[in-house]
Amino acid sequence: MLAAVSIDRPILAAMLAHAREALPLECCGLLTGEGNHTSGIRKATNQLASDSAFFIPPEELFEFFRALRGSVLQLTGIYHSHPRSSAVPSARDIAESHYRDICYWIISLAGREPDIRCYRWGKMTFEEIGYEVV
Ligand SMILES: [Zn+2]
Repeated sequence: MLAAVSIDRPILAAMLAHAREALPLECCGLLTGEGNHTSGIRKATNQLASDSAFFIPPEELFEFFRALRGSVLQLTGIYHSHPRSSAVPSARDIAESHYRDICYWIISLAGREPDIRCYRWGKMTFEEIGYEVV
């Protein structure tokens, strides 16, 4: 798969650490950067405190966007973990992925090794895209 986006290694490591910390529940958070490159992370609260779904509180999103105002940084992605299932979006994940031009990252801890995958809306469908760790 051709790498469509890139992410700093410490950010990927922070996403994974957050996923492990949150066990047995799903974690979630927001990613920042410029264009197709992600260089920042902001952990969010999973308001559902669920092991199979997540929801970022609206006030946290509001605060996040307020902090970005006047900055060159933008929202580049949203991540969440799948403690017990593969790194494949659930029907709910897809239904709630409202942003068309950001990446949706899923960190699966279901297997022996973590599996981190990245998805984005294509023309018609939600599709997996390749990423480069830099
Ligand atoms: Zn999910």
